[in-house]
Amino acid sequence: WEVSYNIAHLMHFIPVSIQSAAAVRHIQELLDEPIRGGADRPGAPELPRITNDITFDRVSFKYEGTDTPVLDNLSLKLNVGKTIAIVGPSGSGKSTLLNLILRLYTPDEGRVTIDGVDIRRVTRESLRRSMAVVFQENMLFNMSIRENIRLGKEGATDAEVEEAARKAEIHRYIMSLPDKYDTQVGERGDTLSGGQRQRIAIARAIVRDPSVLLLDEATSALDQTTEAAINKTLLKLAKGRTMIFSTHRLTSVVGMDEIIVISGGKAIERGSHEKLLAANGVYRRLWDDQSHKPHHAADQADDDDED
Ligand code: ADP
Ligand code: MG
Repeated sequence: WEVSYNIAHLMHFIPVSIQSAAAVRHIQELLDEPIRGGADRPGAPELPRITNDITFDRVSFKYEGTDTPVLDNLSLKLNVGKTIAIVGPSGSGKSTLLNLILRLYTPDEGRVTIDGVDIRRVTRESLRRSMAVVFQENMLFNMSIRENIRLGKEGATDAEVEEAARKAEIHRYIMSLPDKYDTQVGERGDTLSGGQRQRIAIARAIVRDPSVLLLDEATSALDQTTEAAINKTLLKLAKGRTMIFSTHRLTSVVGMDEIIVISGGKAIERGSHEKLLAANGVYRRLWDDQSHKPHHAADQADDDDED
């Protein structure tokens, strides 16, 4: 289901007018999962500009037809303007958490609020207009680079597309191609490297000028050098926005304002990289495992009282 699942996600972000384009139409047929998240209430207001926080208020959630709750009475406050990493092993519920913020699903119990308002009460369209998502695999369509970026924002001008590409640090590469922005990307975007595809996906997200940028394992499939380079770009793009970055690869999260560890359906640890290392808990163990260092229970950080 994973492929069709990402397509379902993407369809939420493609303007309706473009959805009917031939290049896009056939993917609708690939959808085997109905889009969920609940219809808007009659007369639902639009979401105002987000000023304070996105909050999970005692949220429990399980997928239909399963018994195990993915999120179990989770309470979590995400402050706007921060770079926030959601970490945890594969299957711990990171993507689910992002899906709930996007209202692709709704909690079984509890609620997700933005500035205190239950996101179920506002229009889905206004909620998603303020957000953009980049995945590990991002669908590029068999059309020009310009059109692929423009999928992020209906009616974006050429100048806006180019500005987004500059911010994603792919403009210079595009300009080096014989057909520049008119270059057709192959069926699966395979004329581009993984890093270039990812930068085009980032440009597609950033052309929306989202106040919340969600990244779901967006750099996890890249080699270390490319990953580091793209993470640097992302941190620049995070200025003036809220960035929520889910990953199981901890090297990506070292410089983030806050790291939240998800396990057993709950947020079990949170803090900066340094603070979490010093706490010598789950994060420390994941970190040591990934850096192939032996784990010593008594191994104290020297600088654990830095703040
Ligand atoms: P993560 O992103 O941390 O790897 P996920 O949020 O994708 O974790 O998944 C959490 C749990 O929910 C996993 O056990 C996964 O198998 C299950 N799951 C995810 N999506 C679905 C779905 N659409 N239907 C049923 N189970 C799902
Ligand atoms: Mg995931």
